[in-house]
Amino acid sequence: MGVGPRALLYRLRCLLKRREVDVWYDPAYRLPFSGIEFTGYDTRRADFAAWWLRESKAIATPWWRSPRRASYAELARVHEAGLLESLARPETLAAIFGVDPSDVPVDEVMRTVRLATGATIQAAGEALRRGKPQLNLLGGFHHAGPGSAGGNCPVNDIAVAVAAVRADGFTGKVAVLDLDAHPPDGVAACLESDPSHWIGSLSGSDWGPLPGVDEILLPEGTGNARYLDALKALLGRMPPAGLLFVIAGGDVLRGDKLGRLDLTLGGVRLRNLTVAAHLEGVPSVWLPGGGYSKNAWKTLAGAGIALSTGSLDPIPDDYDPLSQRFAGIAAGFSRDVLTDTGELTEEDLSEALGMRPSRQKLLLGFYTASGMEYALQRFGILDQLRRLGYDHFRVEFARQHPGERIRVYGESEDKEHVLVELVLERKRVLGHPVLYVHWLSLMHPRAQFSLLRPRLPGQDVPGLGLARETGEMLALMALRLGLTGVVYRPAHYHTAYAGRHHFSFVDATRQGRFEALIRDLGPVPLLDATRAVDGGRVKLDGKPYAWEPDEMVLWLREHPEERGEVALERERAHFVLEPDPPPRADQ
Ligand SMILES: [Zn+2]
Repeated sequence: MGVGPRALLYRLRCLLKRREVDVWYDPAYRLPFSGIEFTGYDTRRADFAAWWLRESKAIATPWWRSPRRASYAELARVHEAGLLESLARPETLAAIFGVDPSDVPVDEVMRTVRLATGATIQAAGEALRRGKPQLNLLGGFHHAGPGSAGGNCPVNDIAVAVAAVRADGFTGKVAVLDLDAHPPDGVAACLESDPSHWIGSLSGSDWGPLPGVDEILLPEGTGNARYLDALKALLGRMPPAGLLFVIAGGDVLRGDKLGRLDLTLGGVRLRNLTVAAHLEGVPSVWLPGGGYSKNAWKTLAGAGIALSTGSLDPIPDDYDPLSQRFAGIAAGFSRDVLTDTGELTEEDLSEALGMRPSRQKLLLGFYTASGMEYALQRFGILDQLRRLGYDHFRVEFARQHPGERIRVYGESEDKEHVLVELVLERKRVLGHPVLYVHWLSLMHPRAQFSLLRPRLPGQDVPGLGLARETGEMLALMALRLGLTGVVYRPAHYHTAYAGRHHFSFVDATRQGRFEALIRDLGPVPLLDATRAVDGGRVKLDGKPYAWEPDEMVLWLREHPEERGEVALERERAHFVLEPDPPPRADQ
């Protein structure tokens, strides 16, 4: 997990070439939703971009800025009272972000939104005062109008920032260059009465004519070359401006759930470099806009790189922001904080002689409950649970057969709930000592299942949205205990699918069959796919396929792969999904 030569070279190049750019960020930029990942929106995007920009040294320490929350007076310069009032209701915010109302802690969501908007206001002021480019890692809420909100945009941070600089006496032209894959309907509505503005947009969605917007509409699958040609044409038509907002949308990226423009990561970086070079010297505020794919964070980090170092170097493929972050935190733990290294006492001797029962339960012979709670705090997990509405946490261990059970409890409205339950064991798999995960359950009892958040096979309660963090913690625990891997048995297709980037089936043939299943179910949404497998509607060689809950492993040290056998079975196996049973006539 160390830093490889490529990463070192990358840092060196960054240090040599970087220019000053202010970056606005707060850890509370992570929206406190547990079930939004179904929509393709990764709430960790700003964190990932910030971690990379820090670690790569692309952005120097003094350039990091912490925002303040926008005030309601500032929001009210643009938005109608009815809209601002409605944002105090979970139902309104749920509709805007496409989540269930039970998944909306209103105050925490509004804290995130107001911090991002405050940053756009402050960034606009700084850009005008000091001329250097500003990047805000959350914002560009371009769909919010004066009295309407939607599409992940509760308020319009750009319009609120424009109103703020106008109130401070700025009379120059404001330009908004919207490079998100969707049109700036909200920006156009909000700026309609602004005396001096221009809005340009390159979009891939036809939402009808947008008065006041110089819009270039691009077809599905546009790709890098045609996109960059259109961008140059739009930049050529742009009038001189005194303040510029760039919505550097990440949803133009290939594989995005909502955008269809099919740019590569290199193409997006080139887009940002082209804009930065063309508009050099114009005070500018860069904003992320949308982005609904696994690599959306890289387009945002890439905007920071384009502004600071002007580099086209890609972020290394093997860089996983969460693994790197967690490994760095874990490396800082002293051994004593996690375990009990106390001196041998008379009581210990009595225990050792079997004269009294063990007084201290150590998980896996190592961790104390308080050490585990401390680790959960340091990894940011307790903070996120607090934002989801829980407090007064408690960690408890118990023996079980097989394995040892960990429970994390938290209180909500004076009632204690189990939030995390894990059953772990040290075991040997293929002769190697591994951390065996018999059971893992992340539970968010405050949230409810709904049409937007359907129950997955095997779930009793909605999840916490912290599966990736939990996986990283388990890998670090295994490393600390000197084990060589983490193993679990996915009881359903979707639990295997969730781990597919890091885990593979221990048995090569089984892995091949799994890869064939992913290939053949490719276009089917995950929920439908896992229900189809569960319901016996997927056929292998003409017979209903029963899910095989075999062991999957994440090897933490080099391990020989049997890709030949995997490929053979993958080519051999062909799955067919039967259509849904037709509804009965009387329904
Ligand atoms: Zn968009």
